[in-house]
Amino acid sequence: MARRYFVAGNWKMNGSIKANADLLGDLLRQAHELAAIDMAVCPPAVYIDSVGRQLIGSAIALGAQNLSDQDKAGAFTGEIQAAMLADLACTHVLVGHSERRALYGEDDATVARKFGVAKAAGLTPILCIGETLAEREAGNTHAVLERQLRAVIDVHGVAAIDGTMIAYEPVWAIGTGHTASPQQAQDAHRFIRGVMSGFDASIAGSTRLLYGGSVKADNAAGLFSCEDVDGGLIGGAALKAAEFLAICSVARALA
Ligand code: PEP
Repeated sequence: MARRYFVAGNWKMNGSIKANADLLGDLLRQAHELAAIDMAVCPPAVYIDSVGRQLIGSAIALGAQNLSDQDKAGAFTGEIQAAMLADLACTHVLVGHSERRALYGEDDATVARKFGVAKAAGLTPILCIGETLAEREAGNTHAVLERQLRAVIDVHGVAAIDGTMIAYEPVWAIGTGHTASPQQAQDAHRFIRGVMSGFDASIAGSTRLLYGGSVKADNAAGLFSCEDVDGGLIGGAALKAAEFLAICSVARALA
């Protein structure tokens, strides 16, 4: 069945005004050829405004990497409110990226709050879930995925998932060069869809599931061809225009 893939670039804490402008210039020159898929870039917060200005009129969506779990403005020094991201024309936001969970102590409850405030502000959350290597080796992959997914569904209800995206990102594959095999990715994605199906089969069927973890142009076809993989969340490879565009082209060829 033809599907509309979504490929998002997570720039992590990389970039500069000049590097971003160069990267976007290269992306924008070819983005029109990729109209059959949806694309987004998620720059560091300080660059969201300038990147957004460069994207005006293009088909590339603007995403953020993080947001505050507080829904109201106020005394939360250093935090960025969902409404502020929306104010800057952000449409998407990563929630629960493994680096936020591991390095900044974001637990399931925090991730669920962030998911809720993102939705309330009209942003599309991309909920990142995934197991560590130790969890996989202990045979706990499915249990971890289900726990991280249910943490959001239990608080907000399955209807809140509708229209959002879920990124399966095995922690052991992020930035390591060790990509999940297509079989491992498909198994996890099918499991995630199955958990959602237990709540609502229609939402499970329509929610786009992205794979993230060392996706490159030369492994994207195997991953994106999996039945339950609807796109990718790309980190390191999103910083090189040619590589990111090549990954997007793989998605376009399969769409
Ligand atoms: C990510 O940052 O979400 C990611 C998947 O990174 P990488 O592609 O570099 O593994």
